[in-house]
This record gives sequence, structure tokens and C-alpha cells, in this order.
Amino acid sequence: MTRTTTNPFDDDHLHEECAIFGIYGTNEANINTALGLHALQHRGQEAAGIVSFDGRHFHSHRGLGHVGENFDAGSAEMQALHGHVAIGHNRYSTSGKTNALMEIQPFSSELAFGGFALAHNGNLTNAARLRASLVETGSLFQSSSDTEIIVHLVARSHQDTVIDRLIDAIKQIEGAFSLVCIAKDMLIGVRDPHGVRPLVLGKQGNAFVLASETCALDIVGASFVRDLDPGEMVIIDKNGINSRKPFQPQSHRFCIFEYIYFARPDSILEGRGVYHARKSIGAELAKEAPADADLVVPVPDSGVPAALGFAEASKIPFDLGIIRNHYIGRTFIQPTQKGRTDSVKMKHNANPATVAGKRVVLVDDSIVRGTTSRKIVSMIRAAGAAEVHMRIASPPTTNPCFYGVDTPDKDQLIAAQKTIAEITTDIGADSLGFISIDGLYRAMGETARNGDNPQFCDACFTGDYPIKLASGLSSKRVSHGNSR
Ligand code: AMP
Repeated sequence: MTRTTTNPFDDDHLHEECAIFGIYGTNEANINTALGLHALQHRGQEAAGIVSFDGRHFHSHRGLGHVGENFDAGSAEMQALHGHVAIGHNRYSTSGKTNALMEIQPFSSELAFGGFALAHNGNLTNAARLRASLVETGSLFQSSSDTEIIVHLVARSHQDTVIDRLIDAIKQIEGAFSLVCIAKDMLIGVRDPHGVRPLVLGKQGNAFVLASETCALDIVGASFVRDLDPGEMVIIDKNGINSRKPFQPQSHRFCIFEYIYFARPDSILEGRGVYHARKSIGAELAKEAPADADLVVPVPDSGVPAALGFAEASKIPFDLGIIRNHYIGRTFIQPTQKGRTDSVKMKHNANPATVAGKRVVLVDDSIVRGTTSRKIVSMIRAAGAAEVHMRIASPPTTNPCFYGVDTPDKDQLIAAQKTIAEITTDIGADSLGFISIDGLYRAMGETARNGDNPQFCDACFTGDYPIKLASGLSSKRVSHGNSR
């Protein structure tokens, strides 16, 4: 979900990645949704919300902060979320109007057919144009979110049924989106035609569950049924589940960065275990960019599975040379460079007991601005390491994401601005190696990247954007275009 001003790529705000969850068919829809959101906390820590429906009324509670801070099982707010159906959302946001309660999803409104609630993970690339035309013709927006555009499109549709109104709305939006909605005693899930963002279906007794990742099914004791297909809409009600395919089929382009960094390692997405994918990437990295070293040290937590894979493949011992303080959010939460630098220090500390005198291979999942690597390399040196060889379990990030992952503008992406030799000097490493794009595809079990029709969305590494961007965006992106 992304906030927009008049043009989503002209504003100065950072945008959001998110988690969504929905359940139909249990009187504990509220507790299950809170648990599901808790398992998906890594996808968004800024705010959380739940909307439930009891057959007659909608109930809503939304708040800033983590799920646990807002949804205590015994709290009055939780008790008030009555009903057999609920949806929830975790919001990831890094700056801008992050404190506005109006921005917190799910959104719920009274439309002509009754109540409608919606939560969104992704990013609409035609949001600016749609919003401008809706405002022009009288829509009053409560938030700066692109998700609200979908609510207005549903409200204004002239189709007869709620489902046809929703189909009418989603056919007008472009970009990456996974949605969960409640309307007319139905839980509805939608995945965009390219299937960029994940959405899985599970079953808990007689109840159906929709979630961004399978780790949210595990926590509520639901069994995994399947991933929603790209372009699929599922409609769940008291009679069971119905599937529709309202879009023209498109090439399947699931986000490869979900495997590299974003998803939780214990999730299984599109048939691939995230943990296993990360270990395979580390093993492939060891083949492509070997290092003569004594110790493999992960940058915790995101670098751990890749470092294990690197250590196994290279037969270099693995050890924990960096200790992470867990009581601080992800580094990107700080909007300014000064703030980010401080939070890296607050988050990691080198352990001299393991690294002193050693030639260390440091493994992290990605380099974005270079802030983390710079800090960690110097920490490891200060702790007495003899050499520091940085290895990165993704190709150089050279392009912003417009489909729901938070990345900075191109001018802040270190790999878009500097050569690998320059980055090596900049971060102070003895050597630096990235996995190649084909190596990444091999680690994902493919023989190579299919250049004509890539198996994943890898635009952050290749600039090959599968979904049309707003006109003029490519040139803007290079200078100051906004991203995510
Ligand atoms: P940087 O310090 O700017 O080079 O960012 C790289 C670090 O941020 C790595 O340790 C990653 O684990 C983490 N990272 C990469 N992409 C993201 C993202 N979209 N949101 C938050 N953290 C990220």
C-alpha cells in the first residue's frame, strides 16, 4: 500500500510494504486475525488494524505500533471486534504522514450496498491519474493512500452486484496488489494479474484463511491449501469458496525480493520455501564469489540463511560474529541518513571473541544505500578481524521498486551510482562480491533467467519492469522520482 499526493512518484514521502490477513467462518475471527498479523509483523511495524463483521455490523480497531500493542486478547478493543469474518493489515511506513490514523488500514466505509472493508499489499502505478480523475468528479479522499482509490472505484461503479463492482474497480487499477475485502457477508481475496505480491489460502476447520504468507497460517493452526493464482479472485461465504479470473492472463512475475529479504524464512511461497531459497542463494554465491577466509559471519538476521548456505558450500566454518539487538525496528525506519547510521549502531555489535585475528566473510542479503555494510565492516575490523570480505546474496540493487517494496530513489542506490570497486572502497571491505542475476535464478531452481519472459519480477536488479509505469516515470526515476 502506498500513500500518494498528486503524483505518487513526485512526492517526498517514503512508502509502504504491508501484510494482509483475512478469515471467514469462526467466532474467533478477531483473535485469529491478530495472531496472523503478529506472524506477519516483519512486513510492517508502523501500524496495525482489524475490521470484523458479525452479519449485521462492522467493527474496527486500528492503531499505531506493533500488533501486540494494539490487539491484546483480553482488551476491550479486541472483545468489541465481534463476528465470524475479519480482515487485518500491518503497515510498513518510513516517513511522511506516518502518524495519521486515517492512513491505517483496513479501510471501511458504508457504500450503497452496505459496508465494505478493504486491505491492500502492493502499490498502484496509475494511482495519480485515477485519484486526480476521482477528485475532479467529486470524490472526497480521507487519506493519501492509493488503497482508498479502490474504495472510491467500488463506490462509484454502476454494476449490479458487489462482486461485479469490485471487478469493475480492480480492472481500472494497475500495479502490484494483493487484496482482502469484506462485503455482504463475504470474504474476498484478489491477486494482481502478474501475481507480484503473495497471497495464500488456508483452511482452519470449517474456516477459510487468506494471508500474505504461510507463516500466518501456521500460527492459527490452519493448513495450507494453495497460493492464489495470479489474477485470481476468491469469494468465500457460508456456502464455501468460489474462484473467478476477471483479468486477461498476463505473464507470472512473482517478486524475487520476497525470497531474498522480505518474506519470513519459515514461509513457503509459490511452492518454494523461503529459508531453503536463501540457503541456495548463499551456496550459489559461494561458487560465484569464493573467498579465502577462516570464518563465515552473517549480518543478522536477514543474512543468516544465505551465510549458512555459503559456509556449507565453501566448507568455511560458520560463526556468529555480530550480535543483534532485537529491540529496535528495521534500519530503514529512520528517514534521514544521520538517523539510519545511528540505528545501525543500535542494532548490531561485533563479537571480538569470534572474529579477532580471523579472515572473515561477511554475508548480507542486499546492499541498498551501503549504510549497513559500511558500519558492519568497520565494526568487524574494530573487533580485530584480519580481513573482511563482503558477500551479498542478491545482485546489485540498481533500480527502485514501484510494486510495493520500499527502496530509495535511484540516486541513493549505491550500486546505481558506483562501480563494485568503488563500493568496495566505500564500505571499507577487502573484497566485495554479489551473486549474478543468473546465479540467483539458478538458486531458485531455474536453469537461467528467461530474458524474453522472466520467471520473476526482478526489476530492482534489472530495470525490467513488468507493469506499465506512469508516463515520464522512467526519466524522473533517474533524477528524483519516488520509488517503492
Ligand atoms: P543499506 O544499509 O541501505 O545498504 O540497506 C541494506 C540493509 O537493509 C540490508 O541489511 C537489508 O537486510 C536491509 N534491507 C534491504 N531492503 C530493505 C527494505 N526494502 N526494507 C527494509 N530493509 C531492507
